Order: sequence, then structure tokens, then C-alpha cells
Amino acid sequence: MTIINEDQQQNQIPGHKQLHHKSLLQSDALYQYILETSVYPREHESLKELRELTEKHPWNLLATPPDEGQLLSMLLKVVNAKNTMEIGVYTGYSLLSTALALPSDGKILAMDINREYYELGLPVIEKAGVAHKIDFREGPALPLLDQLIKDEKNKGSFDFIFVDADKDNYLNYHNRVIELVKVGGMIAYDNTLWNGSVVAPPDAPLLDYIKYYRDFVMELNQALALDSRVEICQLPVGDGITLCRRII
Ligand code: SAM
Ligand code: CA
Repeated sequence: MTIINEDQQQNQIPGHKQLHHKSLLQSDALYQYILETSVYPREHESLKELRELTEKHPWNLLATPPDEGQLLSMLLKVVNAKNTMEIGVYTGYSLLSTALALPSDGKILAMDINREYYELGLPVIEKAGVAHKIDFREGPALPLLDQLIKDEKNKGSFDFIFVDADKDNYLNYHNRVIELVKVGGMIAYDNTLWNGSVVAPPDAPLLDYIKYYRDFVMELNQALALDSRVEICQLPVGDGITLCRRII
């Protein structure tokens, strides 16, 4: 992956200009309005601290935007989630949103290949008093999921699973997490509109990493639409989030 600069941004096709912009909304003013009116005033002080800390990190583009954190928090409470999983932690904005939304005996099995990113945000998570809910596993998620599936007691045991890691593995993740989430539980796939590139013409001058992952994201979207094991809902929040409720 490459972090792009302003000049590179200007070379993107219309609608794909603002890779640093945390929303697919066409109007920055409208997005700012949402943040200032509905999100920032309700954002937990620790989430604000973590967001501001993460903004100084060179890979800050990876972070979950605060409006999406608010959505996750609402969903977790609506489904009464207690046992959850997150694939792709980075500095932990979605993880902390989840930890704050869960009851005190709630659990998050959190996986990331990079412990350093997680440890950047960990002091904030600890200060918020929710670190005890987190079981962080360092390493590639796929073998960890395979390990979990081997144990029958893990099958159908998760109320909520947030997938926000390597997009080229999303379908592999889906085929595993579908067994781990309970019937009636929810899986949320992040970045499913992939900076709007899912509708870019084939010859669009996309950044290499956007172009590379786009096909995987589109393949996932098609597979989810055909998967009779889940009900789905595609939301244009953040970079696009697809909610899947397991029905069988
Ligand atoms: N959810 C995070 C947040 O709220 O800020 C953002 C996650 S970031 C978009 C993607 C993360 O996935 C990175 O921290 C990266 O290290 C991790 N990752 C990439 N490949 C992975 C893999 N195969 N298994 C587990 N984690 C992976
Ligand atoms: Ca994401």
C-alpha cells in the first residue's frame, strides 16, 4: 500500500479524489455537518483522544472514521452483543468503540498482524477501563480462524464480527466467520465501496492498491448478494460497510 500525497490525489478521477476523506459523501461540508452536529458531541473522550493520536500516525488513512464508530456502537447495542471478534485493529478506534459499547463482561477477540499499531492505542484503551474485554492475537487472521473453527464450541458463538483487514482475503474470512457467528448474529465487512472504485471505469487512473483490491471487493459484494445464509444491507457510511445477518 502507498500513502498518497496531494498531487497524487489530484490525479484521481472525479469522485476518487479525496482518499484522505473519510466518507463517500460528495460534499465535504455535509460530512463536516454530520461530524460536528451528531458525532463529535457524542464521541467518548477516549475515542477522541485515540482519534487525535492516530491522526498523527503516517497510516492514519486506515483508521475507522468516527461516524462509523458511532454506527458500530449502535449496532452492537441493538443486537445485545457480548461475544465479538474484530479482524484488523490498527490503532484500535473500532476496537475501542466496540469495547465501550459492550457490557462489562463482554469480549472482543481482536486480530492483527501488527502488534505495534495496537500498542500505540493501548494506553488510551487501558485508561478508558475496557482493556479487560480485549483478547488481542498477533498474526494473520486466516490461520487463527482455522484454529477457532476446529473447536466445535466456537461455532455459532459470536454475536458480532467486524472484518476490516486485507481485502483480498475477505471471501476467505467470510467462509470461516459465517460458521463462527451465531444464527441471528451479525458480520460487518468494511470498505465494501472501496473509495467508490467499484463503479470506476476499467481504464480509470486508480492508485495501484485501490486497483489491486477493487476486484476482490467487487467479488465479495457479488458473493454476499448471492449468499442465502445471510441477509445483507450495504451502507454508504465511511468507505462502505456491508452488514450481514446470519439467517441459517
Ligand atoms: N479497524 C481499524 C480501525 O478502527 O482503525 C482499522 C484496520 S486497518 C484498515 C487494517 C488492519 O489490518 C491493519 O492494522 C493491518 O495490520 C491488518 N491486517 C492486514 N492483513 C492482515 C491479516 N492477514 N491478518 C490480520 N490483520 C491484518
Ligand atoms: Ca476500514
